[in-house]
Amino acid sequence: MYAPVAGSDKKYEYGKAADMVLDSFSAFDPKVGELARRVFDESRVDSEVRKGKRDGAFCWSVVPEMTPYVLLNYQGNARDVATMAHELGHAIHSMLASHHSAFTFHSSLPLAETASTFGEMMFTDKLLAEETDDAVRRDILFKQVDDAYATIMRQSYFAMFEKQAHEMIQKNASVDELCAAYMENLKEQFGDSLELSDEFKWEWVSIPHIYHTPFYVYAYAFGQLLVFSLYQQYKIEGDSFKPRYLKILSAGGSEAPAKILEEAGINIRDPKFWQGGFDVLEKLVSELEKMPVGGKKGRRSAACGNSKVRRLLKAKPPKEGKEEIRSIKSRSEKSGF
Ligand SMILES: [Zn+2]
Repeated sequence: MYAPVAGSDKKYEYGKAADMVLDSFSAFDPKVGELARRVFDESRVDSEVRKGKRDGAFCWSVVPEMTPYVLLNYQGNARDVATMAHELGHAIHSMLASHHSAFTFHSSLPLAETASTFGEMMFTDKLLAEETDDAVRRDILFKQVDDAYATIMRQSYFAMFEKQAHEMIQKNASVDELCAAYMENLKEQFGDSLELSDEFKWEWVSIPHIYHTPFYVYAYAFGQLLVFSLYQQYKIEGDSFKPRYLKILSAGGSEAPAKILEEAGINIRDPKFWQGGFDVLEKLVSELEKMPVGGKKGRRSAACGNSKVRRLLKAKPPKEGKEEIRSIKSRSEKSGF
């Protein structure tokens, strides 16, 4: 469902890319930079593309006392460098929480992408500040906005469908009725921005979370907005934000996310905090809209003119009630793409 965008072919040599990432981490806090360097120094990164190797990228923190392992498939474009920053962010998260037991050092899902996305944002800011090549800047901005869409909007709509589906099944709904409800959900999500062919009514069947870990996908949207909001606070507060942020990471999964955040002075029931996250996203979209797309011929603005996206950049106040944010110990791949 994602429109392809012409990419940049600028390549970053691996050693230079690692230096760029380490520099952006050290600029935030020297201790964070040192931890990331340890991952390289102890040869924990498998970066080359080889026949038979699995694709993608991930970080695996085995036990608290071991430096985490990072798998990349590094091919040198700006997106690969951002992925390196993302995975090293995961490594730093568990290294900062290594004083906890094997049961509590892994963060729970709503906080699992905190250090990774934050690391990616730090790197992106540095790249956008230094890089003059429009194609690279566009690549990196598209990655940020695509990822944010896949993580916030898509997952929220999956969650809404999931709630609806459970209600419908209580009333003996048929598979055809569920398909029709899913199609309505997609139509509301995408509006007139694309034509949905009929087979998309079956898409929900292919989302494993719906069967294996019901009511799970909200945490992706929660986590991504949380990091954007934290990043916004960092931009506003500067140095005084850093100890609070490091405290969140060093808690690992030892407490419920709401408690960890409360102890760091963050009230997740305050709509203003969430609006900060949407503001970061709005800034990314605005920057992207200003950029030219395509080659020399037919250059046009990247603006999609989709007022719906803009409308969604307004945080809604939370619903009444004091439901606790569930701690989810298991992690799996994000549903949907
Ligand atoms: Zn991640």
